[in-house]
Amino acid sequence: MDRKQAEIRAAELRRILWENSEKYYVENAPTMSDFDYDHLMHELEDIEKQYPDLQTPDSPTQKVGSDLGPAGGSLSSDRFAQYPHKYPMLSLSNTYNIGEIEDFVRRAEKDLGDVKFTYSCELKFDGTAICLTYRNGRLFRALTRGDGVVGDDVIANVLQIANVPRQLKGSGWPEEFEIRGEILMPYESFDRLNKEREDNEEPPFANPRNAASGSLKLTDPAEVGRRGLMCTLYHIPAQSVSFETHSAALDAAESWGLPVSGERRIVDGIDGIEEYIRHWDIARKYLPYATDGIVIKINELAYQNALGYTAKSPRWAVAFKFQAEEALTELVSIDYQVGRTGAVTPVANLKPVQLAGTVVKRATLNNEDFMRQMDVRVGDYVKVIKGGEIIPKIIDVDRDMRPAGATRPVFPTVCPDCGTPLVKAEDEAKWFCPNIDGCPTQIKGKLLHFVGRKAMNVLAGEATIDQMYNLGLVRTPADFYSLSASRLMMLDGWKERSAQRFLESLHASVNVPFDRVLFALGIRFVGETTAKAVAMGFGNIDAIAQASLEQLQAVPDVGDVIAESIFNYFRDPKHLSVIERLKAAGLQFSIEAAEASSDILAGKTIVISGNFSISRDEMKRTIEANGGRNSSSVSGKTSFLLAGSKPGPEKVKKAQDLGVRIISEEEFFEMLPAGEHVVEDNAEPTLF
Ligand code: NAD
Repeated sequence: MDRKQAEIRAAELRRILWENSEKYYVENAPTMSDFDYDHLMHELEDIEKQYPDLQTPDSPTQKVGSDLGPAGGSLSSDRFAQYPHKYPMLSLSNTYNIGEIEDFVRRAEKDLGDVKFTYSCELKFDGTAICLTYRNGRLFRALTRGDGVVGDDVIANVLQIANVPRQLKGSGWPEEFEIRGEILMPYESFDRLNKEREDNEEPPFANPRNAASGSLKLTDPAEVGRRGLMCTLYHIPAQSVSFETHSAALDAAESWGLPVSGERRIVDGIDGIEEYIRHWDIARKYLPYATDGIVIKINELAYQNALGYTAKSPRWAVAFKFQAEEALTELVSIDYQVGRTGAVTPVANLKPVQLAGTVVKRATLNNEDFMRQMDVRVGDYVKVIKGGEIIPKIIDVDRDMRPAGATRPVFPTVCPDCGTPLVKAEDEAKWFCPNIDGCPTQIKGKLLHFVGRKAMNVLAGEATIDQMYNLGLVRTPADFYSLSASRLMMLDGWKERSAQRFLESLHASVNVPFDRVLFALGIRFVGETTAKAVAMGFGNIDAIAQASLEQLQAVPDVGDVIAESIFNYFRDPKHLSVIERLKAAGLQFSIEAAEASSDILAGKTIVISGNFSISRDEMKRTIEANGGRNSSSVSGKTSFLLAGSKPGPEKVKKAQDLGVRIISEEEFFEMLPAGEHVVEDNAEPTLF
């Protein structure tokens, strides 16, 4: 490549890398694989090595990718206080090639000369970096990496992560020190979150890393608490403690109660490193969280100091990255599934295969175009990876293994459920069943969405809805509110008690705030966040029903497609009639109406602590709506401490010391007028 060509290519690479870095770190929605990203980064590094004058100070080879959003934008950091890092938070140089790890070892041995030293081998946790500061043994600050120099203080969110101690135990910690590590979302939490997002028609997170970093930047700490994050710590900056080795510093941190990674191993040369890599290349597949490689660090802090840093990473560490996991398996059959919005999705049934910690039996084939492009057939061997979706993706077909006579699958032309001819809009990739009000799967899907925990929170799961539908008891959400106990006892296995519990939860749902009612209606593209924004924007359902397209578009985060969907929804007389019946049943259709339910808590001062089945803000609103007063600290004047899951131990202790009554969420709702709310205790497993 001559200089001119190199200059053009370098500029192009910088642009691509910065664009993708923004998608990855700020939007948490990458569109390129890490492998491809790293490949382009290495290409740029090579060009800059060959033509050093082409290296610009802002080149992605010189700066860590920043998680700070654009100033003033919706993703901006104006929601968090920012503080400079005491010591820069850098990246790691990485490679997918074991030969380059051997080079790293050779270089370290040469640079350090004739001394004896060891290596710390560790897992490379695939989450988002965090820097915790403990002052006098208490967690004082939690900064994201930010741009490496300045980070966002997300302490309120980190305090919601169960394994991060607020207070250290043991003794001997420095008055103030930093410890760095990773915030991770275990696979189980990730799958649950993405399932919820899919149900709500919100885009799923591409991977647990993006989900962890997106969650850490939420502005509602209670929601962060519900996301099931965990923390693992792997580095104490040498300047902030006086240990001889990295491993001794981490051992001490562990004795202070900090969640330090347990899979570390000290080895003394390349053989030990390679053995560790070989072991974890396989063993990591059984870990409950994602790892994307191995980190190798010089263990002796004096030698770390001697080797120092480049602009972007330490010279005393390197990461060996694993390629994304794939599995090859047989495609046994294809199902065509109808969703609650009528979209028909082809799903491949696979011969069960082990992949990234779970057994995979199904994979999405997305839509007809995708099936055609892949040229996939029943009997083929397909390569699957785990992407953001709950069910994995097929990324390739092994045509050499195709059985003789395998024919191309034919995408159905009619709905597999109700037989209505499918339709496809010009700009959509999916086929739809247009029989919105008659297709059983769509009706049942919408009813199930309506009763969901994040919607009306009524005690009914998939099996109950199926039965209710099959017996002709419900067709629209409004029908739930006309059900009597005697009708409910027609359901298989239902007795008086189950009917009563269902009716109680139904009555409680009339107090569900307006934004959740709006979400429960299941208007296409209106997820929880949009429902909140629209409810806040208009205040009541009539104003939304009468709003013009332009007025709808003026609501933050409502684009053309969402506005059109809301507008059309309210042009359908069937929807308006359901809303009228729901209004008659007493549901909340305006923001004001949700306020002031009773004065049963008048004169009571309540402190809440921990997580609840509703957000902490909603809990506080419920207290106020029933005449109570919220207070943040327990004192002799506290009427009671309302403790959810994982309440603050200090609050609990203080309440115990002062003899303040501690009540559970269930007890709390029992105090309120009948039907205020029912804590989830479903009689049967629901989808949520
Ligand atoms: P990185 O994730 O490759 O490695 C550095 C990070 O590893 C550290 O910041 C730390 O958070 C983490 N880490 C995990 N375990 C560790 C341990 N035991 N010890 C030390 N650190 C540990 O680097 P990065 O700068 O955060 O991100 C760059 C990478 O992100 C790229 O290599 C690429 O793979 C990916 N990326 C992808 C895209 C995309 O579009 N797909 C865009 C930007 C970046």
